[in-house]
Amino acid sequence: MRVQYDEIHEKLAIIEKSQERYKLSLDSTNDAMWEIDLTTKMFSSSNRFNNITGYDKEVANPIENIIKLVLEEDREIVINDFIDLINGGILYYQCRLKLNFNGIDNRWFLIRSMCLRDTRGVAIKIVGSILGIAIQRNFEEEINKLKYYDILTDTPNRKLFISTLENEIIKSKGTYKQIKLAILFIDLDNFKEVNDTLGHTYGDELLINVANLIKATMAEGDLVSRVGGDEFFILMKSIKDYSKVSRLCVKLQSLLNCAIRIDNKHVYTSASIGIAIFPNDGYDTNILLKNADTAMYSAKNNGKARYSFFNESMSSIIVRRAEIEKGLRNALENNEFEMYYQPQIDIINNKLKGFEALLRWNSAKLGKVSPAEFIPIAEQSGLIVSIGEWIIKMVCLQNSLWKSKGYLYDTIAINLSGIQLQNDDFEENLKNIINETKINPKFVELEITESIFMKDFERSIKLLTAIRELGITIALDDFGTGYSSLSYLKRLPINTLKIDKSFIDNIDTNEREKVIVDGIILLAQKIGLDVIAEGAETKNQIELLKGMGCNQIQGYYFSRPLSACEIEEKFLSTNCINC
Ligand code: C2E
Ligand code: CA
Ligand code: CA
Repeated sequence: MRVQYDEIHEKLAIIEKSQERYKLSLDSTNDAMWEIDLTTKMFSSSNRFNNITGYDKEVANPIENIIKLVLEEDREIVINDFIDLINGGILYYQCRLKLNFNGIDNRWFLIRSMCLRDTRGVAIKIVGSILGIAIQRNFEEEINKLKYYDILTDTPNRKLFISTLENEIIKSKGTYKQIKLAILFIDLDNFKEVNDTLGHTYGDELLINVANLIKATMAEGDLVSRVGGDEFFILMKSIKDYSKVSRLCVKLQSLLNCAIRIDNKHVYTSASIGIAIFPNDGYDTNILLKNADTAMYSAKNNGKARYSFFNESMSSIIVRRAEIEKGLRNALENNEFEMYYQPQIDIINNKLKGFEALLRWNSAKLGKVSPAEFIPIAEQSGLIVSIGEWIIKMVCLQNSLWKSKGYLYDTIAINLSGIQLQNDDFEENLKNIINETKINPKFVELEITESIFMKDFERSIKLLTAIRELGITIALDDFGTGYSSLSYLKRLPINTLKIDKSFIDNIDTNEREKVIVDGIILLAQKIGLDVIAEGAETKNQIELLKGMGCNQIQGYYFSRPLSACEIEEKFLSTNCINC
């Protein structure tokens, strides 16, 4: 019995000591103190407490009043926590709470308290402190904002978007209702140009405007998020069918595919939108976002300023594109390219005018890939610059070799992509190749398309004039398919117009196209340009072209593009030694 008594006494002494220490530690801090006497139901507090909360000491029913400092929505939880504290369920209470400051304003406080007990363990007092943490809390809010929001457009960022989407997916999986979600991926079509030509301030203003337009278009509960430079995501919740999504896309595009006014300037913009639907296009956030991205890509590839719902066939197109791009990166190194040559015939004098050099790619992994498929990818990925340089070198070398053998023809034409010409080193590189390969520039022709003049007209004119001064001739390819503005044709430093195959295809069946070709030929002759028709396949087409005064023709009728050896064998020499 004595032992038990001593044990209890010892324990109580420890408790009292720790309570004593707790009181002391509270007293020495900056915190404002308060205390509730559970026996008398009295609430007492330090002056500091009254100052920072505006609590009136003299008030009747102090406990009821003190509870009113806690915001209504938190009251039940706080009361339960304190009951827990009194019952011994928790030893210390610590919580960040918004309190009614001075009855006017809500501010953040850190509340700490503990329960004091008598020697029998019965709760007698709750003592505590409060500390204003307004500054820290605002700081935290600020940090949260930085973490989860895009500062420029004040929209949730990718992180917040993804966690919201994940939550919505979990919620829908948990219900029996067929809840569908739509994820829209919006990408501006010409943002880079706005940034490059008008500057970043306009670019930023444009993004803010676009974000505001999107926000104004969305239904309540939907979420918009800027997730990258000019990319936005929209999450549409609980959609029943696709038509609601289509309607939003049409509305968005009517607002975004137009001129947006910024600082008295009109900035022309358009957007491509890709859409993936949960659960039809994927059950998982990553797959849904990837599919929305694929659908957006598809909308862009189909001519921009449009929207596309994801479908499975799109992925295979994207995968193929990625494979081609990957293959192209190693194609030069692996020696997978070869130049083919297609003869161009002077039908009046019945002699060889020259050749067009056409690139062929026999990929180790993908087999033969058509240039119509891989050239656009090489252009978009910028790979055309190094591939293009290789083409010029190879063709000039071949040209030089054939000329050294004394073969008779005027020129070999090399196709140029706009991107090659945009490269500042283009002219210098061309001159170097001409010197290295020792080709007389008069045997070299360059084929360009009208699109290169759209980018920077004056610069292109200057560059091409300089190139022509070297003695190189220039042909305008695919004439008739582009802008074909006749008024500026006279200003272009070109020698030849190449009438596009699509016109030649129909000259023997479609009177209108025949008249157009006739007109082009007349016009070219008037302004002193040569004309060549490409893609002639039948004798009838040749006769008609001849009748219209077109004396140069390239097409399967004479020959398909052939390897250098075959060309040498069939068109240049009667006994080819190298083959
Ligand atoms: P392009 O410059 O318009 O070349 C003419 C295309 O028409 C060639 O296709 C040629 O084989 C084809 N063609 C010529 N005559 C006929 C015909 O009578 N019937 C038919 N059906 N087709 C005919 P290819 O070689 O497949 O090239 C396609 C496009 O790829 C070219 O169109 C050009 O834009 C691009 N390309 C080809 N080689 C190069 C190159 O070395 N550099 C660059 N930048 N682009 C190239
Ligand atoms: Ca061409
Ligand atoms: Ca062409």
